[in-house]
Amino acid sequence: VRRRAAIAIAAALALVACAGAWFALQDSRDSGGSTTYASDGRLLRDVRVPRQLPNLVVLVLDTLRADAVEPGGASRVDTATPFLGSLAARGVHFVQASSNSPWTMPAAASLLTGLHPSRHGAFDSRQAPALPAAVTTVAELLAHAYGYDTAALVDTAWLGGPDALGQGFSRYEDGFWLEDSAARLGSWAQAREPGRPFFLYVHTLEPHDPYGRENRVLPDLPAPRPGGGRWSGEPWEAARTYLLDGPRRRHLMLYDGPRFFDAVLEYTTYGYARDPRPELVAELRSAYREGVRWADAGVERFVAALEGLGALENTLLVVTSDHGEAFGEHGILGHGRFLHDEILRVPLVMVGPEPFRGGKIVSSSVGLADVLPTFLDLAGLAPLDDVDGRSFLRVVDGDEYGWPVLAEELRHPLNAFEANDVLVASARSEGWKYVLTYDLAAQTFREELYDLLLDPAETTNLADAERAPPLDPDFCRAVARVRLNVEEAATARAGSGRAVGRPGPTRPEPCGFH
Ligand SMILES: [Zn+2]
Repeated sequence: VRRRAAIAIAAALALVACAGAWFALQDSRDSGGSTTYASDGRLLRDVRVPRQLPNLVVLVLDTLRADAVEPGGASRVDTATPFLGSLAARGVHFVQASSNSPWTMPAAASLLTGLHPSRHGAFDSRQAPALPAAVTTVAELLAHAYGYDTAALVDTAWLGGPDALGQGFSRYEDGFWLEDSAARLGSWAQAREPGRPFFLYVHTLEPHDPYGRENRVLPDLPAPRPGGGRWSGEPWEAARTYLLDGPRRRHLMLYDGPRFFDAVLEYTTYGYARDPRPELVAELRSAYREGVRWADAGVERFVAALEGLGALENTLLVVTSDHGEAFGEHGILGHGRFLHDEILRVPLVMVGPEPFRGGKIVSSSVGLADVLPTFLDLAGLAPLDDVDGRSFLRVVDGDEYGWPVLAEELRHPLNAFEANDVLVASARSEGWKYVLTYDLAAQTFREELYDLLLDPAETTNLADAERAPPLDPDFCRAVARVRLNVEEAATARAGSGRAVGRPGPTRPEPCGFH
């Protein structure tokens, strides 16, 4: 076995060396050609641009909290990411980046399309294609208009497979581990089409639950026995098993899925607030921290493999996450369904051509949907038509401020077991957070407003305060959009054109809507 492993490693290294030479050859070529735009900036005709287009690598570490990459972060996992810290010191670290959704599929779809979830409509991991035909992904634009070689290497069923979000990727592979970066990236490089810039999208499951490295190695399961695998424990025990014990979780999901998953959902969503267990949270944080440390070491392998291939030359490298993770901060565990900052904030580190170098720290608010519009801007390419995301290229050097980022959880179904009982959306700037929730059963709205500078843990709801805090017009426009989106979703759920009433009135009327 040792000999076979040694041969496999030698083969992988040889592959990397060959591909590296091959990359160096390709990168020395110039594409040549021209691009034509309409007066409004819309792309009319392209073909090639008279210079070398930059490459793009996006690495999404599923469920990585923003504070995992920050010194002194609240999750106390900051020292678990020395490599990401060193990467941030080479590039630009956006410390106020946030997702447009609290869970994987809509968040990844926002990243890939530049659209908010209510517009791209990707909510169901079982549906393929996940996006409406009219939606164009950045992968499609880059592949079809600019000749990019596009590939996605992923490791999560929550993205729904190649037919769900795979449009525009000429290569889509599942089962990608950061540990296998050298071999997998080597074979990707060899399969690449010569003479073309590339877009590589990598979405790994580290450090998603079940936390910790050992949970990724799953044993073969025995055949189900009659009555075997029936869940009869307490909800907190179900949550513990789900989050910490990969093999047993897999067994229970296969053989007693609904009953087990209902217990998990009950505790992570509502049960924890009634029955908080600090010892469980300490155990979860510790295991998560181990997973984060493992992910960080994996990113180091990933970047080393790209460097070995020469694939970071003229390349923008983006490292981010699709959402964070809750450890009881607002009475919940995990992610999805809630828009608190421990779930919405994501790390965002970008390294590449100017201005993405020099260890800058940007504290303006930007969102996942803005990332690829920023790449198009950097590359000098025409933007996607009518998208929500905006380029933050000029935010990096402080020539522009960031903007409020919208996040939404307005439609489900998440999976076969889960049904949402609320509709919720938020607007988040670096200073403020507004959240509007519609309770489907009670048919009532609830507003929340937090001062993120004074109250980053979102503990004091200023929507109930006596005096309205001063909010700038930009933020109020985002609040208006949130209200409209939630009202539309609530009306759609009420069915047969029945209009659902406006939220409020709220006490401080911060934006003067009432
Ligand atoms: Zn995710």
